[in-house]
Amino acid sequence: MFIGKPLPLSNIIVLLLIPAVFLGQESVALSAAARPTIISHNLTVDLIPATHELAAQDQVEFELPRHAASIAFTLSPNLRVQSIVLKAPSVPGQPMRPDTVLTFSSVQHPHQRTQHIVVTLPLDHEERMTLDWSYLGLMNDPPKEPRHLRFVTPSETAGHIGLEGVYLSSESQWYPDTERSLSTYRIVARVPLEWTVVTQGRKVREEKNEDRVSSTWVVKDRSEALTLVANKFITKSKEWKGSNDQQVELATYFFPDNADLADEYLDATAKYLDAYVPILGDYPFEKFAVVENFFASGLGMPSFTLLGSGSIKRHYVQPYALGHEIVHSWIGNSVFKVAGRGNWVEGLTTYLANYYWHELSHDTRQAYEQRRLMLYGYSVYVTPDQDYPVAQFLRKREKKDDAIGYQKSAFVFHLLRREIGDESFWRAVKTFVSQYRNRPADWGVIETVFSRESHRSLRWFFEQWIEQSGAPTLSLGDVSAHYTVGDDGQNIWHLTVRIQQAGKLFRMLVPIRITMEETTETRWMALSASSEDFAEFILSHRPLQVELDPELTTFRRLARVQLPPMLNGYVTDQPRTVVQAFADPTSPLQQVVDRIVDQESRMPESRKTKVVTVDGVPLPRGGSVLILLGAEDQRTVQSIVQESCGDLVKFGTGGVQIDGQMYDGPAMAVLVSCRRASTPGSVVTVLYGVTPQAVAKIARLLFYYGWQSYVIFDGGVVVKREVWQPPSDWKEVRIDTIQ
Ligand SMILES: [Zn+2]
Repeated sequence: MFIGKPLPLSNIIVLLLIPAVFLGQESVALSAAARPTIISHNLTVDLIPATHELAAQDQVEFELPRHAASIAFTLSPNLRVQSIVLKAPSVPGQPMRPDTVLTFSSVQHPHQRTQHIVVTLPLDHEERMTLDWSYLGLMNDPPKEPRHLRFVTPSETAGHIGLEGVYLSSESQWYPDTERSLSTYRIVARVPLEWTVVTQGRKVREEKNEDRVSSTWVVKDRSEALTLVANKFITKSKEWKGSNDQQVELATYFFPDNADLADEYLDATAKYLDAYVPILGDYPFEKFAVVENFFASGLGMPSFTLLGSGSIKRHYVQPYALGHEIVHSWIGNSVFKVAGRGNWVEGLTTYLANYYWHELSHDTRQAYEQRRLMLYGYSVYVTPDQDYPVAQFLRKREKKDDAIGYQKSAFVFHLLRREIGDESFWRAVKTFVSQYRNRPADWGVIETVFSRESHRSLRWFFEQWIEQSGAPTLSLGDVSAHYTVGDDGQNIWHLTVRIQQAGKLFRMLVPIRITMEETTETRWMALSASSEDFAEFILSHRPLQVELDPELTTFRRLARVQLPPMLNGYVTDQPRTVVQAFADPTSPLQQVVDRIVDQESRMPESRKTKVVTVDGVPLPRGGSVLILLGAEDQRTVQSIVQESCGDLVKFGTGGVQIDGQMYDGPAMAVLVSCRRASTPGSVVTVLYGVTPQAVAKIARLLFYYGWQSYVIFDGGVVVKREVWQPPSDWKEVRIDTIQ
């Protein structure tokens, strides 16, 4: 059954040197071959990290049309098939028939990273059959550094078996497969002593002999792909029992350095399961494991998550981190997206984990903060000419993809909840997850389920928010009131509010905060996709002032002047100017300049940041300015700062005063932004450290603090972060006298 011992390395190299064929004839054979529907894999795999070797046997069970003469599978071009044997079906009461060795050919197009194996079938085959594959090869593609420094992406590898670790994912193509297959798996994986394998499903057996450990895993739910990792882990586990009586094994697989963080991760996992099982239904797997990876990653696989060492060290247990990966257990790993047909998975996961968690834990400030980041992210990173519909989002490449596919998409679920009400919304979420368990779903399915559960047609909603691009631009129009006298002699106030839309028109609900004598109330206004809507509200107190959506609960585009000043205002502005206000060329501030220049090296000249010295040419009149201020030069920038920040920010020797509060001492550094006086919508941002040491600690991570108006650091640690209150859209109520 098993491959006794993998072939020596020399043999493998010889085999791999035989090139895969690509002849016209073979290509015809590939297009004529049927695509099987895979039911199950039964794998036995030997992994040898020291030599990058993989030797495997896979019994693949599948269905195919009876008339098919040949079938095609995909496999990594690094792997060489030794034999494919058709297992004879065992018929009760009849003698065993012999197995049949089949012929096959390998087809590989020159520029493709896939090898197609075309297998010739006997004439009288069954509709369901099992092929027994033997194959082997080297998986040696050490992860490369991420290409985008400021944008966190996992390092890139097509799969690796090495002494630093084993990582085999669907991209590795490490077993014979077909596109869009959904299969169950059983796998016996053998690794050297002291190594531990982690894969999907449940470990049912583990045995050691003199030089290998063998573990058997069963994945009984159908899954798109099987990911397997191995390393020298320290394992810890505990049992979770839910209020639904479900039992789940929680585990950590960490390197010795981080082993003492195991309990923190196990407790956080339990906390998220406690919260999300009531919302999403039974947890779809038998275990959840947090597994340390040997390269930077944040990947959610069915029943485990793979995190880089750096992330684990940084206590990656927050809702947007570990919570997000756990929600992916249901959303994405149990209900799948349909490849190439729109990625709704990230929007719903982001809504449930990154946003709704704060509502669940009654943290209204953090919930507001998340809505703010969603709206600001979309407003600054997605310019109207680069916008595209949520339905077109497939994966994150740039900031704008994140703003559309994660943030706007998440916000649309918030709007949907508002539109159909909490009860229908949460019932639809639960129904959707249970009905589509182990199945693919697209936006159309989501529309169907939410329409059915809310008993109304949501066609307009999905057309407007998912299929079309854009966001509303709203402003408060005329606001007036008059009163009548009721039967009881009390005044009845009639408040008329007008809201205007510019550009593309949207149908939506908008909250209005009404400040009255003695009280404040929020009422909702339905906009009908016209350029002006009005509504009359009956109030028992005299209205004084009306504010349009002060809590940022509706999705809309905010103009740059409507945003508070922050570093991201600088980052996304044109033109940008950096002012070097430091004398020491070895200052860490110089590294910030070097990094900006390096990152923009491929940009057209006209879009590049202009770097000037403080006493050089006058600043360009337009655009945003980043001042890198050394300890010795505060007075040189005082006039620029004064002009834009007024009395809010004052630099002095040994410290800075912000909003009336003094921050001083050698470890103090600050990042502060003000609206640029000469240019509405642009900003002046200052990075300043009392000493070079104080600023050295934050220079590298500067751009992570882009959404704040000011951040105070003490020894590199954030001690305060604030947003200058953005200008809100409000109007005083005009009182009309009725003749
Ligand atoms: Zn995600």
